[in-house]
Amino acid sequence: MITDILDIGEQINLRGQVIVVGSGIAGAEVATHLARHGREVVLLESGRGQFEPSIQALNDLTFLGKRHRELDPDTYYHRYLPPELRGVSRVRQFGGTSNVWTGKWKYLQPSDFEGRDWVANSGWPIGFDDLLPYYRSAAKDYSFGDLEAEAMRPEIREFRAKLAAFGLKMSSFYWEKTPTRTAVRFGDEMRRSENLHVVLGATATELKLDASCQRVTAVACRSLEGRELIVEGDVIILAMGAFESARLLLASDRQIPGGIGNAHDLVGRFYTDHPKHHTGILWPGQLTQKYAHEMQYKPKPRFCLCFALDDVTQQEQKLLEHVLYLKPIYEKKMAPVPGRPTCRDDNGLVVAYRVKFVTEQVPQKDSRIKLGTERDALGKRKLEVNWCFTDHDRQSLSKILEILPHRVAEAGLGTIDFGDEPPSLENMTDAAHQMGTTRMASRPEEGVVDTDCRVFGTENLYVASSAVFPTGPSYSPTFTILALARRLGQHLLQKTSAKLAQLS
Ligand SMILES: Cc1cc2nc3c(=O)[nH]c(=O)nc-3n(C[C@H](O)[C@H](O)[C@H](O)COP(=O)(O)OP(=O)(O)OC[C@H]3O[C@@H](n4cnc5c(N)ncnc54)[C@H](O)[C@@H]3O)c2cc1C
Repeated sequence: MITDILDIGEQINLRGQVIVVGSGIAGAEVATHLARHGREVVLLESGRGQFEPSIQALNDLTFLGKRHRELDPDTYYHRYLPPELRGVSRVRQFGGTSNVWTGKWKYLQPSDFEGRDWVANSGWPIGFDDLLPYYRSAAKDYSFGDLEAEAMRPEIREFRAKLAAFGLKMSSFYWEKTPTRTAVRFGDEMRRSENLHVVLGATATELKLDASCQRVTAVACRSLEGRELIVEGDVIILAMGAFESARLLLASDRQIPGGIGNAHDLVGRFYTDHPKHHTGILWPGQLTQKYAHEMQYKPKPRFCLCFALDDVTQQEQKLLEHVLYLKPIYEKKMAPVPGRPTCRDDNGLVVAYRVKFVTEQVPQKDSRIKLGTERDALGKRKLEVNWCFTDHDRQSLSKILEILPHRVAEAGLGTIDFGDEPPSLENMTDAAHQMGTTRMASRPEEGVVDTDCRVFGTENLYVASSAVFPTGPSYSPTFTILALARRLGQHLLQKTSAKLAQLS
């Protein structure tokens, strides 16, 4: 069922076997999975069905380093938001950021999980194979196309081989026609479910521990109207996005100074995003003319392509991962330029391609979020964000920009023109991909959660979010967030069944 915190009587406290905080793609996935398998779940969501600016304001923060993108009242995205909030990178509403996202689904590559000795703090303590079954089952349930079969299609293999000869690699992602909105996808199921109780308007403000300080016993919640609620549970999952999950751990410092899971001062650190530049142009070359049909972006849903320097070049030149997206610009939007070749796909004459260039950043301790001194409307300390870069980030970017346009031209993809403002870490924006604030590690000295996404030092507290990504080189984190949420759901099912078997 779905209720509002205001509809729950005063003095009533709730209980669930599992408490999930946050109803975005991660929280909705793990909560419905566990409820479908008979677990009693309470899902706490700060937002409501309708977007409320006063609730969104609970996300407000201060930038100490590089800022995120500026809001843009004129953007054609997010038209349902009030103009002054269009362009936000996180949404506090039932369904979370899925209410505004674009719907591109991409696997991380196997190499993303492996440590690269030229990238500090890179690599995951789990491998691609640990996530593959969950990527596959999610793709099936959500009716995405089969990315693995797509990669083996003869035209794609041929195109890939032609690029490989020039030191370029190419990968595919699946782009939904209507991006998955979790409130739409799971709303009815949640309303009907007997095992799942969704409470809207309930902002988690503190995690309460037992006397051992190793077990979370309850989540304290509050609404902007002043209603308070304590929800008790056996297992707690934070699925509030990378910023708010870390914030709640830090803010829960009444019993453990410095907050929960923070014995090594790692909560909030290693924050990374994907710096993004999207105003370049590619004038098509002969290879683009040949494969224009493979490179088109519509009609959706469809598989689309992206490009980068190959792994050998990255290793030789000590480069960070990066991605080049090429979006067709048709003659309706841009008149053909005399002397510049054009090409044709199923949608018409392509005059040029819009270049979106995105890069990975080195995970480092100083790039971080922490609690500041200002307080939000619920009296909780707001976040301060120090988004910053290393020398390696700068060196890698300038080297990529030196090599990539040459390779793209040599391979016949075309001529890249970045205009007056080539990508630099100063003019690139965030990609709304917050990662790494509760990074996964094998040892508590190196991270905040273990390979099961359990917060070190606790018995029953988990994180389902890109907060756990130690590195996220390839773009589009959400397929991996979904796969990790599924894997966590499965892990908790097995764990709770084993416990029940022990008791009987
Ligand atoms: C414009 C845009 C386009 C994007 N496009 C893509 C794309 O094409 N591909 C891709 O891979 N990624 C994309 N992303 C990123 C993607 O949207 C996120 O990775 C994903 O939605 C994160 O899901 P989540 O469940 O972890 O977090 P969220 O969806 O942010 O959910 C967190 C939930 O927690 C709730 N919450 C927060 N604090 C509290 C609290 N204290 N108590 C209770 N509830 C709380 C929030 O209200 C929210 O509902 C895009 C992002 C944006 C902004």
